Amino acid sequence: MKSYLLKFGLAKAEKERYEKEERPEAQQEVLWRAAAGLPLYTRTGSGAIRYCDRCQVIKPDRCHHCSACDMCVLKMDHHCPWVNNCVGFSNYKYFILFLAYSLVYCLFIAATVLQYFIKFWTNNLPETHAKFHVLFLFFVAAMFCISILSLFSYHLWLVGRNRSTIEAFRAPVFRTGSDKNGFSLGFRKNVGQVFGDQKKYWPLPLFTSQGDGLTFPTRLVTPDLEQGGPQPPEPSQSVAGVPASPLSEVQDHLLNSPPHGNHTADPNALTSVGPDSVTISLESQS
Ligand SMILES: [Zn+2]
Ligand SMILES: [Zn+2]
Repeated sequence: MKSYLLKFGLAKAEKERYEKEERPEAQQEVLWRAAAGLPLYTRTGSGAIRYCDRCQVIKPDRCHHCSACDMCVLKMDHHCPWVNNCVGFSNYKYFILFLAYSLVYCLFIAATVLQYFIKFWTNNLPETHAKFHVLFLFFVAAMFCISILSLFSYHLWLVGRNRSTIEAFRAPVFRTGSDKNGFSLGFRKNVGQVFGDQKKYWPLPLFTSQGDGLTFPTRLVTPDLEQGGPQPPEPSQSVAGVPASPLSEVQDHLLNSPPHGNHTADPNALTSVGPDSVTISLESQS
């Protein structure tokens, strides 16, 4: 069992209650209670908690179920038939580097074959089997160059905007509505999210992506985002002008809170809000 399932999975009693309930509203009630301590910012299109019936976990933000892999994949980008695997949080940087290395390789082949191709074109190549090889190499290299270049530039564009392919096609839904730029933190930070802070590691196949794949900083955090829903615990509106700690720290705090067996939000849980760095303390009602 993956460790995140412990935090995002339902406790045994809840799971039973969820399965027993037939009304979707009652099922949502179970989910809202279970999600109370979790740092979730996104919802389904109808505003419900995102839950995977197949894996029986509350889906972390940006996580999607892949039907080909039959599992939930963190920050799922797409299922790649070429590598027969999902591309997501844990291998997105490697995927982009794979495209970059392949592009360089194809360019190298096309460039070195070019002089022979020109000879072939001008009928200066001797009539041997080499003729076919030259043609084949050049066209395959050129074709892959074009397709990889378009895929590579598309993914670089996505990195710059902090979107996954899935999110580019369907914008994630926040409390404030769907927003395709919901996870965008500005170009530099967006690149850092995938490639890390240190430029020297960018071209190397080392894991330097930031975060844990479960939570992602967003500029759209609203005070009661985590607690909205059918039975939202009342947030005590004690807004203090205290400089908020970075969101990731806050989320770590939330993640490190005890497993949600008792389903009460940590009374001291802090939610950092927007660019104004306002801190809200949330109170549990149960
Ligand atoms: Zn799943
Ligand atoms: Zn997959």
